[in-house]
Amino acid sequence: MTEPSGGSSGAQAGAQSAAPRVGVLALQGDVREHLRALAACGAQTGPVRRPHELAEVDALVVPGGESTTISKLAIEFGLLDPIRERVAAGMPVYGSCAGMIMLATEVLDGRPDQRGFDGIEMTVRRNAFGRQVDSFEAAVPVKGVEGGPFHAVFIRAPWVESVGPGVEVLGEVADGPAAGRIVAVRQGNLVATSFHPELTGDPRLHRYFVDVVRDR
Ligand code: GLN
Repeated sequence: MTEPSGGSSGAQAGAQSAAPRVGVLALQGDVREHLRALAACGAQTGPVRRPHELAEVDALVVPGGESTTISKLAIEFGLLDPIRERVAAGMPVYGSCAGMIMLATEVLDGRPDQRGFDGIEMTVRRNAFGRQVDSFEAAVPVKGVEGGPFHAVFIRAPWVESVGPGVEVLGEVADGPAAGRIVAVRQGNLVATSFHPELTGDPRLHRYFVDVVRDR
């Protein structure tokens, strides 16, 4: 666990020891970018690769990367069932892109042996925006996040095809050919986006998530 950035003078020591411990699932994907974003938001953070590291965190971020690989490694590292149990028990989790896929209860165009954390009642489609637009950018206003739409970066991203009754849609693509597609959702303490705020240096989504963890 690294301490949040911002110094450790005496007056802040109490606040810092109360900083939420937010781990980043570090099996594959853009782990470092999430660690940096979380530290900037005042969380204590560190990589989670083993069950004992999972036991030490209050919350988890599942990064972008490749969901089939993250699934395979989560099984190999003995983390799949422990994470599923923590999710069922209410641990806050934020998933971006592949992390969104890992949080979904149903995945379309996945591999038949791909497993997830069974968190958000939604159906997501992998690589949904089509092979010809592997990567694109679009404006996405996110409910509950002020300061204007996100400049959202999508990289072979999923979209959300449908959500269950307990799921709040936080964001849809605002314009362009994918306008109206659901790309940000929340169900209780679980948050997911199709895009990668960790890659654009926009701290607002991580701050939103750290607030979810603090409010818990
Ligand atoms: N296409 C990837 C998957 O299926 C997700 C891409 C990403 O996380 N940038 O997991």
